[in-house]
Amino acid sequence: MAADAPRSNFIRQIIDKDLASGKHASVHTRFPPEPNGFLHIGHAKSIVLNFGIAEDYQGSCNLRFDDTNPLKEKVDYVTSIQEDVSWLGYQWQGTPRYASNYFDQLHGYAIELINKGLAYADFSSQEQMREMRGTLKEPGVNSPYRDTSPAENLAIFQAMTAGQYQEGEVCLRAKIDMASPFMCMRDPVIYRVRFAHHHQTGDRWCVYPMYDFTHCISDAIEGITHSLCTLEFQDNRRLYDWVLDNISIDCHPQQIEFSRLNLQYTVMSKRKLNQLVEEGLVSGWDDPRMPTIAGLRRRGYTPASVREFCHRIGVTKMDNQVEMSMLESCIRDELNQHAPRAMAVIEPLRLVIENYPADQHELLQAPNHPNDDSMGQRQLPFAREIWIEADDFREEANKKYKRLVLGKAVRLRNAYVITAERADKNADGTITTVYCRYDADTLGKDPVDGNKPKGVIHWVAASHAVAAEFRLYDRLFKVANPAAEDDFVDSLNPQSLVVKQGFVEPSLQQASAAQAYQFERIGYFVADSKDSSAAQLVFNQTVGLRDTWTGSSDAE
Ligand code: ATP
Ligand code: MG
Repeated sequence: MAADAPRSNFIRQIIDKDLASGKHASVHTRFPPEPNGFLHIGHAKSIVLNFGIAEDYQGSCNLRFDDTNPLKEKVDYVTSIQEDVSWLGYQWQGTPRYASNYFDQLHGYAIELINKGLAYADFSSQEQMREMRGTLKEPGVNSPYRDTSPAENLAIFQAMTAGQYQEGEVCLRAKIDMASPFMCMRDPVIYRVRFAHHHQTGDRWCVYPMYDFTHCISDAIEGITHSLCTLEFQDNRRLYDWVLDNISIDCHPQQIEFSRLNLQYTVMSKRKLNQLVEEGLVSGWDDPRMPTIAGLRRRGYTPASVREFCHRIGVTKMDNQVEMSMLESCIRDELNQHAPRAMAVIEPLRLVIENYPADQHELLQAPNHPNDDSMGQRQLPFAREIWIEADDFREEANKKYKRLVLGKAVRLRNAYVITAERADKNADGTITTVYCRYDADTLGKDPVDGNKPKGVIHWVAASHAVAAEFRLYDRLFKVANPAAEDDFVDSLNPQSLVVKQGFVEPSLQQASAAQAYQFERIGYFVADSKDSSAAQLVFNQTVGLRDTWTGSSDAE
C-alpha cells in the first residue's frame, strides 16, 4: 500500500467531524471510473483522494466500474484501469464492483418509483423533450405522459424490459419538478431502451439505467459514507439525494464535490484523448506524451512521484490550471535523489586522443551517484576514440562556453583532462572529428602545468559504446489550454517527439524499464517498456535536468 504522509483538506475536515460526532464509525469511499478509456492524471487525483482517505482513516475504498453505457465501454479498459490503480500503489476492498452488478436492484427501484407515482414512461421524441425542458430562465412544461397511472407505467416499463419497444420510442423518467431551477431535476430520464451487448451482462438487458440514477444507488448499496466527485456534479447532488430519499434503501452517502485537475499544455478528457489515439496522432493510450497513467509510467514516472504530485496540488473547490512544471518537479526531485548516473551521447561527434595508444583501453571507476556512496561504482572503459556531444565542441568560443574549444582544456567526466588540437570538417563545414591530447596525470586531479580545464563534458568510449535510440519529449500541445481552442488538434506541438540515434556506456546494455538513469548533463531517461531490447536499446526522456520554464534546477 502507498504510505504517504496525510495532508489535510476540506474533505478530510468533514470526515473528521463525522467520525467525531459518531455519524459514521468508519469511512468507506469508492473510485468510480467509467471503463470508456484509460485513466489519466486527473483520475489519479481522485484515486489518491479516495484511496488515501481510506488508508489514513483505516477505512476502505471500492473500485467500481460505472458501466451504464455499453456502447462506449470495453473490457480492455476495465483491465487497464485495474492495472493503473494497482500500479499507483492502492488496493481496493474485495473484488472490483460493477454498477452492472446492480442492474436487477436498479430495475427494482425503478419499479418502486413507478408504483409510488414517481416515475413515468414517456413516448415524447427527444426533440419534444428538449423543447418541454425549458431553459435556465424559463420553467419547463409537463409532458403529456406525466399523469399516466402507475399500473399503466408499470406495464409499459415491463414491455420495454421485454424488448417490445424500439430504441428512442419510449423512456422512463423520474417525476420531480419541471420548474426546478436545477435542470437535472426537470423529470430526468432514468431508464432507456438500448439493444446493446454489454461487456459484463451480455445480452441480458435491453434497458439500461442512466448514470445519475445508477450512481447514487450503487453508492448506497455498497455502504459508501462519503461519495467524492468533481464539481460538475454539484447540481446533480439534488438528484442524487432525491433518488435515495424516495426509494427503500437505508443508506444515504454524502456527496461532496471538489475541483477537477486541469494540467497545462495537455487535454484531460477521455473523449479528446481517445480522438488522439483513434486518429493516430499519438502511438496509443500509453504514448509517453499522453497524460494517461500508462503514458506517464512508460515515460518513467514512478507511482510515488504521481502520488506526490496529487498531494502537492491539494484538494479544493477552486477551478485551476496546474503548471506542467509542478508535475515534472515531482519526478525530478525523486530521480535526482535515487537514479544512478550514467553517460550517454545523443548527438555523437568523434574524438580521437592522439597520444593514447590505439591498441590500449583501460577500465576507469565511476561513482553511480555523486552524493550517495551506497549506490556503488561501475567500470567505465576508456580508449583512444570516444564519442562526445556535437554541442560540446566549438572551434572558437567566448569565455561563457565552458566546454571543449581548440587549444583549450576540458575534463572528461570521470576521466582525464584533454586539450583540443585540430578538427576535420566536411565540405559544408560540419565538424566530423576532433583531435586531442590527454594528460595521463589528471585522473581525479588537476593538471600540474596550469592548463586548468574550464568545464566537464560527458563521453562514451567508441570501442565499447552501445548504440541507442533516444526519444526526447516536449509538451504535447503548443498552447497552455488546448481545450479552449476551436479544434484542439490544431494546436498539437509538432516537436513533441524528437528522435536521436547515439550511444550509451556499456553498463546500460541490459537497461530495463524498471530502472531510470540520469544521463549526465542531459536528463533523466528510462528504457522504453515496449520497444527497447538488448539488441536495440530505446530510451525515453522522462524529464530534463532543470525546469526550462522557470529556469530553476536541482541537479547538475
Ligand atoms: P473524462 O472527462 O476524462 O472523461 P470522467 O469524469 O468522465 O472523465 P470517469 O471515469 O467518470 O471520467 O471518472 C472517474 C472519477 O474520476 C470520477 O469520480 C471523476 O470525478 C474523477 N475525475 C475524472 N477526471 C478528473 C479530473 N480531471 N480531476 C479530478 N478528478 C477527476
Ligand atoms: Mg464520466
